[in-house]
Amino acid sequence: MKERKYNFDLAVLGAGTAGAVAAIAAADSGLKVILIDQMGTAGGSASLSLVTPMMMLYIKNNPMCSYISDEINRKMVELGAAVGKGDNWFDPMILSIVLEDMLMKRGVKVLFHTTVVGAKRDGRKICAVETFSKSGKSEIYADYFIDATGDADVCELLNLPILHGNEEDGKNQPVSLRYILGGVDIDAFWAFIRTHADPDAEIPPRPENYDAAVTLDMNRIFPLRGVFFEAIDKGDLLKEDATYWQVFTIPGRTDALAFNCPEFFDLHDADDAENLTYVQLQGKQAIMRQLLFYKKYFKGFDHAYIAQIASLVGIRESRRAVTDYVITKEDCHFHRKFEDAVCISNYPVDIHGRKLNTYAFEAKRDPEKPYYEIPLRSLIVRDMDNLLVAGRNIGSEFVAQSSVRVMPTCRAIGEAAGIAVSIAKKKALSTLHEVDGREVKAEMLNRGAIFE
Ligand SMILES: Cc1cc2nc3c(=O)[nH]c(=O)nc-3n(C[C@H](O)[C@H](O)[C@H](O)COP(=O)(O)OP(=O)(O)OC[C@H]3O[C@@H](n4cnc5c(N)ncnc54)[C@H](O)[C@@H]3O)c2cc1C
Repeated sequence: MKERKYNFDLAVLGAGTAGAVAAIAAADSGLKVILIDQMGTAGGSASLSLVTPMMMLYIKNNPMCSYISDEINRKMVELGAAVGKGDNWFDPMILSIVLEDMLMKRGVKVLFHTTVVGAKRDGRKICAVETFSKSGKSEIYADYFIDATGDADVCELLNLPILHGNEEDGKNQPVSLRYILGGVDIDAFWAFIRTHADPDAEIPPRPENYDAAVTLDMNRIFPLRGVFFEAIDKGDLLKEDATYWQVFTIPGRTDALAFNCPEFFDLHDADDAENLTYVQLQGKQAIMRQLLFYKKYFKGFDHAYIAQIASLVGIRESRRAVTDYVITKEDCHFHRKFEDAVCISNYPVDIHGRKLNTYAFEAKRDPEKPYYEIPLRSLIVRDMDNLLVAGRNIGSEFVAQSSVRVMPTCRAIGEAAGIAVSIAKKKALSTLHEVDGREVKAEMLNRGAIFE
């Protein structure tokens, strides 16, 4: 086995939505960047947990707050893998190809199949992260680090204070194992929905552009409720299969449906390897059970087959960092604004469980600007000088994180993180705490990011 040492301006740990974008943004500033991931594909939850579509931000014109996000969306539309402005429905696998192409063209050193297992520090600075791969152990030295692992792994390995789950009992949001079926006759299925719809249910329009969704949430009226109940009564489904069930079409895949389930309501520790193993083992059993149910009870599934099962368990929320500022529920609720804002959102509270907890924020608090802002300080790890967090693991309370976590926001946060590091490097600042968020936003705007 070869032991290696790498030396870079910036090491980004985790090549998911936030990490990939952070690496691109820093490379665009001329930094020498390495991007590391335990898996063999960029995109993280978006590609390997099969999470699609991107949520809208519930702000007029859905601004992405990211020039890189706009570039990704344009490329996805060109490839027929997204529709409209590319800011909503997309194909998760093509997304990884687009991201990897952008990373290679920007000269980012990508290192896959490499897991971060340790971190070396000197006082308030990380000197290196330690990794393990088939080549053996390596040390990645850099001036700056961005923890984009989704689970704040680097912060955890440094024994820094961590936020985990909700504030009352530390329980994380439930995880899911998503899957995609191929061979589906989508027209026949939508016709079936219409004929079997619950009279009180809102019937989803036919997916003309492969941009449609059906959600079964047992707390709400759902078009196919009766069919699910019949299958549960006959022993063909478990009650869990019908507690939260959601399906999306995928642009460019005329015979495929992406399922946002099965969901595991009683596992409350999303960073426990035994739990994640359980989800892979039991989730696949559930997926098989659901496929047989569709074939028996629905129309359009005679030739359906399992095209993909997520290789990464879908984690909504796990560990979060303690940062200079931790975004609170009230910040989101009351559309709070910050001087060092680097992103805006009005995506609602979205907490899963046996009972879904979703609600919009108080728009009337700021009718002119009905959204909240994310300050740069919520990306700056409080107890370190050269470490940022980006993505779903930024400093945020449980309820706030349930809104912050969506993909457009993770992209914008990643971009802000990459640019913040490049400003620190250019100015030779001794600590990232000195980076001015206003300068970061100005640079994002300068590069073409649209905020409003
Ligand atoms: C089931 C589910 C449904 C969702 N639905 C939607 C939706 O419809 N729309 C929406 O916009 N958002 C949705 N989300 C939220 C969104 O997908 C995620 O919050 C977002 O993609 C997270 O991006 P990220 O970059 O922070 O983390 P991730 O994409 O999870 O990336 C983390 C990366 O770090 C890597 N990594 C982790 N640990 C290590 C380590 N120790 N060493 C090396 N690499 C490591 C991982 O392999 C991964 O690639 C959903 C999430 C889930 C789980």
